[in-house]
Amino acid sequence: MRSLPNGTNGTEGLRAQNLSQILTMVHRNGPLSRSELTRRSGFNRSTVGALVSALTEKNLVRETEPPVGGRVGRPSPIVQANPDVAVIAVNPDIDALTVGVVGLGGHVHARVRRETRGIPSLDDAVGLTQEIVAGLEPTLAGLDRLLGAGIALPGLVNAGTGRVLVAPHLGWHDADLTGPFGGALGLPAVAANDASLGSLAESIFGAALGVDDAVYLNGSASGIGGGIVSGGAQLVGSRGYGGELGHTLVGPAGRACHCGRAGCLDAEVRLERLLEAAGLDGGGIEALERVLSGDPPEAVRVEADRQLELLAVALTDFVNIFDPELIVLGGFLGSLVAFRGEQLAKAVNAGSLAGRVTVRRAALGPELLLVGAAELAFQPLLASPS
Ligand SMILES: [Zn+2]
Repeated sequence: MRSLPNGTNGTEGLRAQNLSQILTMVHRNGPLSRSELTRRSGFNRSTVGALVSALTEKNLVRETEPPVGGRVGRPSPIVQANPDVAVIAVNPDIDALTVGVVGLGGHVHARVRRETRGIPSLDDAVGLTQEIVAGLEPTLAGLDRLLGAGIALPGLVNAGTGRVLVAPHLGWHDADLTGPFGGALGLPAVAANDASLGSLAESIFGAALGVDDAVYLNGSASGIGGGIVSGGAQLVGSRGYGGELGHTLVGPAGRACHCGRAGCLDAEVRLERLLEAAGLDGGGIEALERVLSGDPPEAVRVEADRQLELLAVALTDFVNIFDPELIVLGGFLGSLVAFRGEQLAKAVNAGSLAGRVTVRRAALGPELLLVGAAELAFQPLLASPS
């Protein structure tokens, strides 16, 4: 292979970098005027114009004329990431499999949650994903491009290799995820831990936007996972398995945890026990949400209060260790925040040494993990739009 002359290579590399910067900006911030892009990027007006034209030609952004009137001078066109450039997002869990079609800008075109009979095996999950995606054909037909697939899994996943080391509640061990899912969908696939992706999604589009120090906890049917943003960067650990905040001890004399210890947050604070208290057999987070937002029966209130108390014990530890500005709770933990968030924040602030932290529910709701999985799948395009 003949290499390009240095000059060309350098210019091309720089241009690719600039395209990446502009596309990422409109993807993450939503529609921006050309003049706002000029201000934020620090490029001059004609450079921004050329970059936007190049991205428009590739159909990655769309330009619209701004509304007429009001301002003096020539109005600046509005640039928006093309939501019809999309990926498939997949979130397998012990009670259900959720599949979404997510476009640039975090736009969720479709979301399908299918309850499973029993805990799905990896083969079951791949087969069910294929079936759901086949049913989404009308949505897919309306897209401009389908780029790939992202998988958010409750377990220890090496995002670099796409392998799961262990997903304890699903019972999946040391398996390749991206090969089977990608093969079944005919798309390149990527995978990572669900809570890390939830944390990423909330940092880009949700409650932790612009926050440099945040602790994020996600509660799914499988259990509790975490993500830590410190000094603006995600803490991932030496092998990418960091942030397993669910295995924080909240009651040493408590229930046995699958990790071998007893009294972990993950063993004590559980969705199925809230559903059981409500007399429900399934329905997931959305069913719990309906119970908590109405007038919940005594048994549900008692169980929710017990779980909130133990959650406060763990969150107090996280505040002492990480000194976050914000704690974001997603999944059914978000439902508990909606139920008694003030009480939770009060307990955490009273218990921690350094004082005030804000406790907020994840903003992306049931779309959270899908948007996170999609973000991972969009990364190659955002890094190199050309
Ligand atoms: Zn444990």
